[in-house]
Amino acid sequence: MLNIFNSLTRKLEALKPIKDKQVGFYACGPTVYNYVHIGNLRSILLGDLIRRVLEYDGYQVKHVMNITDVGHLTSDADTGEDKMEKEAKTEMDVYGIATKYTRAFLEDMNALNMLPPHVMPKASEHIAEQIKLIKLLIARDIAYESDEAVYFDVSKFPSYNQLTGQKLGSMMLGARQDVVRDPKKRNPIDFVLWFKAVGRYQNHILRWDSPWGVGFPGWHIECSAMSAKYLGQPFDIHAGGIDLKFPHHSNEIAQSEAAAKKPLANIWVHGEHLLIDASKMAKSEGNFVTLKTLTDKGYSPLAFRYLTLTAHYRTKLNFTWDALTAAQNALNNLYQEISSYDQPKVGCAEFEQHFQDAINDDLNLPQALAITHDLVRSEYPGSAKLQSLLKFDQVLGLKLKETWEEARKIPDVVSRFIGSREEARKAKNFTKADELRKAIEKEGYLVEDTPDGYRLKKKF
Ligand SMILES: [Zn+2]
Repeated sequence: MLNIFNSLTRKLEALKPIKDKQVGFYACGPTVYNYVHIGNLRSILLGDLIRRVLEYDGYQVKHVMNITDVGHLTSDADTGEDKMEKEAKTEMDVYGIATKYTRAFLEDMNALNMLPPHVMPKASEHIAEQIKLIKLLIARDIAYESDEAVYFDVSKFPSYNQLTGQKLGSMMLGARQDVVRDPKKRNPIDFVLWFKAVGRYQNHILRWDSPWGVGFPGWHIECSAMSAKYLGQPFDIHAGGIDLKFPHHSNEIAQSEAAAKKPLANIWVHGEHLLIDASKMAKSEGNFVTLKTLTDKGYSPLAFRYLTLTAHYRTKLNFTWDALTAAQNALNNLYQEISSYDQPKVGCAEFEQHFQDAINDDLNLPQALAITHDLVRSEYPGSAKLQSLLKFDQVLGLKLKETWEEARKIPDVVSRFIGSREEARKAKNFTKADELRKAIEKEGYLVEDTPDGYRLKKKF
């Protein structure tokens, strides 16, 4: 039922799960040595959205998201880039920092109403699996060892450029410069599977024994090892931000496929960047915005979630404060509107069909959101609208049910004012009725008169 753009084939494809009605889904998670910014959160939200759409379609999803807690931390902070590195002097410090930022990340996920992945494996707790995979690659003569590291030999994996579609030659030119400068490295594009704790990494704090001496794993092997462990190989869908396409995902594919001689994942989904005032977010440019930056200014986390729904995942989303304000207002209007609806009853089949078509059309959430607003504006009774809206919210994740339930708890004072106002209206005492309307508004509720009687809405 779901048609989704597969980065691997560069076309829309119908999802055909490996196991009937079940989907194995891996989304790359955060590195936990700093707070995540809202650009990272947009990528993580894409994973949540994919999961929710699949579940809406009736699939049983197994959602795996890694936590990268094996950072490049050395006690002499030789890269000098990150304050946290200077703070970390011992292994306990490293794990303390990772724990702190993992917790902060999970709080952000919760605030954004993301469904917790079923498994959140930590890289540091899967070193044995990573070593096993590297050993297999060496045994297959696809990886080689130097004095400083173990490398993946890209020349042994001809489809290395499948995901990027670039010519291998131009990819080599663009190969990362920050790998160990090692005379025994065969090719600049070869990437590290295992760093030995020598040279610039001799003081690396996190270290484990391995067949190649004490050291630590490279940047990509954790995802190959952990996805195989929890989802098998191949699995159905692999997602992440577009910045992970190369080198991270290209390397994941190379490692996993060269080792197991079968595909890693059938469908690859990449979400576009979030821009801040039209520029790419970077700490150095002073536009490092976190969820806390938004909530400190009085926005609700779900306003940010709403904002991400307004842009298709394959288009860049330009974050501005005006755009966030518009999202907050739209969300508040939605909350206000539903607050007057009666208990949900039989929904609106036609809208539900359109909604499902939109989400299954390559996750067209902007369209799904437009359908949501069309429904709210429609002539259907509130109870019917609410029934469908609560269904839609399984995907939108805007906490419509909780908000509606909360708004229905009408304070006694408001109920009394309402009763008195109805009496005043019956007695044609419109001055008094108007005073009571104002008193009700002061209590945070709006009363509107319709041909069928009054409607009470909670102000948002
Ligand atoms: Zn990954």
